[in-house]
Amino acid sequence: MSALPTVLDVSCRWCNAERGNRCTRIPSGDIAPQPHSRRFIELSAAMSNGTEFIVKMLHDDDHIGVKAGEEYAAIRYWLDPGAKVSLLRRVLDGWEPECNQYFHCVEFIRWASSS
Ligand SMILES: [Zn+2]
Repeated sequence: MSALPTVLDVSCRWCNAERGNRCTRIPSGDIAPQPHSRRFIELSAAMSNGTEFIVKMLHDDDHIGVKAGEEYAAIRYWLDPGAKVSLLRRVLDGWEPECNQYFHCVEFIRWASSS
């Protein structure tokens, strides 16, 4: 798990690798040495268009009232997309913390829309 989605968290439209599977060479089916560039574009699109994803807090933040282990729907923080996510609401009860968190404070769990 990493703080943010990686290319493995999106499918590849080039070789049809599913989420979690590595890219393969066409037509041999061998594992590709690195993910196809198409896949980075998919990931970039998902992260920049406000797609929600679920993160887990790694630490308590008494200031804000969030606790380690809680899961939140989040998007990339638009003013600082390279360093922070905006927490939208707690998955458990919908509480809205109205705050941003650094990537290293959270762990990416899954896309909000995936089951
Ligand atoms: Zn691929």
